[in-house]
Amino acid sequence: MLPVSGRILRNFQRLRLTRCSRAQGETKRQMKYILVTGGVISGIGKGIIASSIGTILKSCGLHVTSIKIDPYINIDAGTFSPYEHGEVFVLDDGGEVDLDLGNYERFLDIRLTRDNNITTGKIYQSVINKERKGDYLGKTVQVVPHITDAIQEWVVRQALIPVDSDGVEPEVCVIEPSTTGEQKTKPTQNSVRELRGLGLSPDLIVCRCTTPMEKSVKEKISMFCHVEPEQVICVYDVCSLYRVPLLLEAEGVVGYFKERLNLQFEANSRRLLNKWKEMADRYDRTLETCSIALVGKYTKLSDSYASVIKALEHAALAINQKLEVKYIDSADLEPCRQLDEPVKYHEAWQNLCSANGVLVPGGFGFRGTEGKILAIAWARRQKKPFLGVCLGMQLAVVEFARNALNWSDANSTEFNPNTKYPVVIDMPEHNPGEMGGTMRLGKRKTILKEKNSVLRRLYKDCDYIEERHRHRYEVNPEMRSNFEEKGFRFVGQDVEGERMEIIELDEHPYFVGVQYHPEFTSRPMKPSPPYLGLMLAASGKLQRYLEKGCRLSPRDTYSDQSGSSSPDSEIVDLKLSAILTQES
Ligand code: GLN
Repeated sequence: MLPVSGRILRNFQRLRLTRCSRAQGETKRQMKYILVTGGVISGIGKGIIASSIGTILKSCGLHVTSIKIDPYINIDAGTFSPYEHGEVFVLDDGGEVDLDLGNYERFLDIRLTRDNNITTGKIYQSVINKERKGDYLGKTVQVVPHITDAIQEWVVRQALIPVDSDGVEPEVCVIEPSTTGEQKTKPTQNSVRELRGLGLSPDLIVCRCTTPMEKSVKEKISMFCHVEPEQVICVYDVCSLYRVPLLLEAEGVVGYFKERLNLQFEANSRRLLNKWKEMADRYDRTLETCSIALVGKYTKLSDSYASVIKALEHAALAINQKLEVKYIDSADLEPCRQLDEPVKYHEAWQNLCSANGVLVPGGFGFRGTEGKILAIAWARRQKKPFLGVCLGMQLAVVEFARNALNWSDANSTEFNPNTKYPVVIDMPEHNPGEMGGTMRLGKRKTILKEKNSVLRRLYKDCDYIEERHRHRYEVNPEMRSNFEEKGFRFVGQDVEGERMEIIELDEHPYFVGVQYHPEFTSRPMKPSPPYLGLMLAASGKLQRYLEKGCRLSPRDTYSDQSGSSSPDSEIVDLKLSAILTQES
């Protein structure tokens, strides 16, 4: 946690009190803050609890935003290795942030900005900049009060930024300060005592357990932590994350917050959480499995591909399929492994060949790229559904150049700066030497000119789309015609018409590459079109879906949290997904 965490927490309590008293004479609505902080060990789903609390309050008709506070001195997550930290999540404004912000965006169907992720580095940077400008009027700048005030002001400012598509100012802000990630052994009692030592009394104690908590345990925690038994919430292991908001709701969390924060809403949250229940039930009921080979580099840590996996899950759920991800370390597919590690080599190929579809995600650096190219070649020739994301698309271009255009030396200049056929090249924006924040980042427009492209149809025949980017290299536009003559088409470009954003291959059930990262905007009830296309193709349903005019679940508009969706439309949609399952 930030070195001054205690003061920050205390300041929040003071802030709340001053705001309350000031508000008595005024009509201005007050922001309500919910602070979620860790207790015993890290990595047990604090982020999920925070997101789920937001979800149930949003389902009561409130506008909810969220802020994540991280202890590290890095300005942002842009330079993090996925080996160590898991995926770097990218926002619309190009902010490279902690992957927990992805959970908030997905659960709440909101769009955050880089300032929703505070780091120690960002705070110090802002304070030092102010000091240089002379804003502190010659005073000594200290941790207390200058750093603590900077954090507080940041939160208060940022909480007001609209995150919903209706542009309404939020009413509730869920704040999650993460701890440094080390294993802590002190049990709940100690952490609550520590919190009290900082002048804070918990309103709720959320306990993670494998099975539902026994009454006596709840009473014991209540007694030793000096809270009512109703303030002890048990979150036991459930079969899908979709159940967590339901679980919290069943534990009475909505009623508690309504009273504690004096929230104004009449809604019956149980009814409004119906969509989540339907999703959770559907997840439990799906029988058919569809497997996707994820051919990547950081396969040891599944968090490295967190949003990719989520996007696959959303797509699978929408078409009633159970997702099975086969993680393949692409280096294991390379011929040198045959002698060094024959078992790994054969297992990797066995996994690849037995999957229903192949996904090559984004990545950086040379290691494993030749293995990815082999996987792509296999998918192209065997007509296996394939999706290449960012680096995955760039390597699909390299593969086609080498094997279909017979440019055997073709490569990306990222991996061979001297190649005779530079089919993927540096972008002018690329600034070698500086790593942080030098990429083409964030939301950009892609124009979908080709009416008959599969992806355009999957995107509901839109003329353009806006997706998030994170790359330094791009397809060399000079070589475009050589590819297109052979049926390897570039069906989406940037606004200037120069940057290749989407590739599609003729006479293949689904061979698609995208320069952007569609996984960052996938939502449980709004699956991302390129991922949906992959899952549909891998489960043999794509043709049918396209013939049906790409209609799957009109009611699956997650943004509609007002409860106004008619039950009839839900029935129709359910039937439609059922039809899709049966007719494959
Ligand atoms: N390394 C490639 C580039 O920088 C791909 C990046 C990515 O996959 N996110 O362009």
